[in-house]
Amino acid sequence: MSFAASVLTLYPEMFPGALGLSLAGRALEAGTWSLEAVQIRDFATDRHRTVDDTPAGGGAGMVMRADVLAKAIDHVSPPGDARPRLLMSPRGKPLTQARVRELAAGPGAVILCGRFEGVDQRVIDARGLEEVSIGDFILSGGEPAALVLLDAVVRLLPGVMGNAVSGEEESFENGLLEHPHYTRPQEFEGRQIPDVLISGNHKKIADWRRAEAEKLTRERRPDLLAAAQPLTK
Ligand code: SAH
Repeated sequence: MSFAASVLTLYPEMFPGALGLSLAGRALEAGTWSLEAVQIRDFATDRHRTVDDTPAGGGAGMVMRADVLAKAIDHVSPPGDARPRLLMSPRGKPLTQARVRELAAGPGAVILCGRFEGVDQRVIDARGLEEVSIGDFILSGGEPAALVLLDAVVRLLPGVMGNAVSGEEESFENGLLEHPHYTRPQEFEGRQIPDVLISGNHKKIADWRRAEAEKLTRERRPDLLAAAQPLTK
């Protein structure tokens, strides 16, 4: 069964966007995953096709209406749809590789892209939306965040990446940042490829990579080290 993504957005033209190219694009053509981008505005009920209104209690900006969003969600994801319903949101749980793996193993995702100040809390509660953040910064809309999430998921779908092993050795998969990479030429502007990597000794190479990964993680992301798996030799 293929992974089915439904994206609710005011800018369906942004999809598939970057996901129409390269690995994700080929997988989309091959039917490994599917993508429908649904225009939220089509579910507005008034003559002006209004999707937002001023915030209750006052303040700047506009808020996306619960009733319009609920209709859009119910249209693409009627009760019984097994797919998780995600709301891209800076207030959400930060996206992790573990969550990306879970999503990739499931039937798909319904992804709501916010705009303006955000969405009415009542639709988040009423439709059980899981708020997902892609980092501690503010985008102008949820669309780039949805593209990021889908990119991370799609590359894990069976058959998408030629070399499945490389997926498992990447940063975060074992709780560590990845070791540095080198390729030819042997010398670049006076800098050599580390000797160990051309030694042909696989045990030494594995040890060196593990040590470099730990060093990098300690320097840049000590928070990850606590969760890192014990050294397996
Ligand atoms: N006023 C909001 C920010 C709204 S930004 C706040 O302070 O929390 C507009 C929309 O962009 C959001 O509804 C969300 O869908 C999206 N967005 C912005 N930053 C994001 C992030 N870091 N991760 C995921 N989505 C984000």
